Amino acid sequence: MEVVAGTYHVEVADGRLECSLPGRVKRSSARFVSVGDLVEVERLADESCRIAELLPRQSALTRHGVARRREQVIVANVDQVAAVVSVARPDPDFSMVDRLLALAELNEVAGLLIVNKADLLEHSREHEPAGVDTAHGVLPDDFVPYVRAGYEVLLTSATRRAGLSELRDRLADRITVFSGPSGVGKSSLLNALMPGLDLRVGEVGERKGRGRHTTVAAALYPFPDGGYVADTPGLQYVALWEVDPADLTHAFPEFGEPAAGCRFANCRHREEPECDVRTAVEAGSISERRYQHYLALLAEAEEGR
Ligand code: GDP
Ligand code: ZN
Repeated sequence: MEVVAGTYHVEVADGRLECSLPGRVKRSSARFVSVGDLVEVERLADESCRIAELLPRQSALTRHGVARRREQVIVANVDQVAAVVSVARPDPDFSMVDRLLALAELNEVAGLLIVNKADLLEHSREHEPAGVDTAHGVLPDDFVPYVRAGYEVLLTSATRRAGLSELRDRLADRITVFSGPSGVGKSSLLNALMPGLDLRVGEVGERKGRGRHTTVAAALYPFPDGGYVADTPGLQYVALWEVDPADLTHAFPEFGEPAAGCRFANCRHREEPECDVRTAVEAGSISERRYQHYLALLAEAEEGR
């Protein structure tokens, strides 16, 4: 959250207000204000503004899945987490993708995968095994497990302006956390989608108002069609050490069906006998790479206990 010297930046119908947060409001609420929170703003006689009330939160992205400790909310009222990678330059980091999508699942927030630089696929087409056909090119095989697991995978090219209308539809009217390694084209995509936005200088445009119930927008970029994209640098490196290891199986949606057949209800799909998840990995219906990333996150979560 970008709180500059105790000032909260709040989006309202006709721009942005710099507000204070009175101690009375701080104490009366059971939580801290986070990026994405809806608040009620009061304009005082001297034209200064203050936050009068924190409104209930619909959802929150936290480090450990459930909002148990109030100070750990990363972004409030998040609708979806978008993991952004590029087909090449840099090559996709699937370990990061699986960590981000797991974080989304643990927070019960939708996850999606944006695969940018689709224009670079054309050069390698002959060497690429046939993957899934999309409107903007053939999705390489490496991404097929995500489609099979139920994730929306969007192939885009910021430079060719391909796949942008699908992306725009998916972002409209929602709060999206955009995350991925630097260099994959996140700024290029956002600049292409939000005319007038220049991420480097951090300008923020205007948006249609939501009346009195407005949003603390310290690190949110308002989207012209409604909705916001949240800038959360470093989210892809968030450790899952506060996650309950038993919850981690739910962070991989494709494990759900086979897990129902495991001998133990609390099976962690590692050494346990009669584990249908491991059987599915051996049979190739669950991606070996996703499974290895699951094991790595499981070890991380167990270490945090
Ligand atoms: P960010 O660090 O994720 O915000 O990435 P940038 O938007 O700064 O882009 C990094 C580099 O990738 C820049 O040189 C961009 O011009 C380039 N780039 C971005 N999108 C595309 C694309 O769709 N295709 C290609 N070939 N290059 C791209
Ligand atoms: Zn199992």
